Amino acid sequence: MAPRSCVTLPLALLPALALSCLACSPETAVPTGPNPIDGQRAYGHVKAMVEIGPRPSGSAAIYKCRDYIKGELEAIGIPARVDKFTVDLGRPEVPAFSNIEAIIEGTRKDDDRILVIGSHYDTKRTDQAAPPEQPGFRFVGANDGGSSSGLLLELARHYKKHPPAVTLHLVWFDGEESIPWEWAGGERALFGSKRYVQELKSKSASSPLSKVVPVMLLLDMVGAKDLHIVEDSQNSSPELIRLFKRVTKALGKEKQFFQSTMPVADDHEPFAAVGIQTLDLIQFRDEDMQTWWHKPTDDLSMISAESLATVGHVVVTALPLVIEKYYPAAGSQSR
Ligand SMILES: [Zn+2]
Repeated sequence: MAPRSCVTLPLALLPALALSCLACSPETAVPTGPNPIDGQRAYGHVKAMVEIGPRPSGSAAIYKCRDYIKGELEAIGIPARVDKFTVDLGRPEVPAFSNIEAIIEGTRKDDDRILVIGSHYDTKRTDQAAPPEQPGFRFVGANDGGSSSGLLLELARHYKKHPPAVTLHLVWFDGEESIPWEWAGGERALFGSKRYVQELKSKSASSPLSKVVPVMLLLDMVGAKDLHIVEDSQNSSPELIRLFKRVTKALGKEKQFFQSTMPVADDHEPFAAVGIQTLDLIQFRDEDMQTWWHKPTDDLSMISAESLATVGHVVVTALPLVIEKYYPAAGSQSR
């Protein structure tokens, strides 16, 4: 029995034990409060995007979706920057992509570091590019493309009213989905996030990008009624996962988060590749791939306002802890 063995410890060891306990003192409690994120409002955004129809990169529908996101941001007083770009894939058609960026200034005026929160808003092209065994079909991407983009609009509304300490760049990426059906190492995918990292690099040429952008958080497929966010073992920071686990536990939501592990390639990958600490909140288990991922079943009937609100609550609760840890104020020490 382990506890009984404690009494046999030599007394001389006790001061050393006390010191080591100080060094690993329990982390401070996670401050929690009522959820300021309106799940119904986020769901309304997802519904509006889904009603546009399939929104693959380069389609008239995604331009309509881009204008919707831009219009909603401007309606809440946030100017949106649209970055239009093309990528030559060595094919006759050159897709034209658009990233959308909304900046919310932090309350610390002397701090020019950036925290990026991203989502992709393109949907997988499924009309003709499916593998031979899977004929073309109509795909509206309620969860994959819609859910995170709608939630990010609601996060924008919240942070416009309640800006955090450091400046947020909220980014809706185009071109996350691979142009050929198969991912094939992501060489022909993640166009928007790769472009955005290149832009950030060119603006901060004098210092390493990870000093300017210590953290990037990604949302993807966050609205399923049966919510199960996985623990990404490929590109997400174990330390950030640990921080978010404390938050989900404090909110009593731990059963919906990090119960299974999956290596995930997604829009956080180009950020992780340059040393930025990243975390992808994504639902991507084997059973998800079999039942709705890139399938006609990914429609509005599989998502809920409640799940969107839950993920939003986790993000707004975690953000002050992320800032405390990765954006120490001048004169204070990083823990
Ligand atoms: Zn997808």
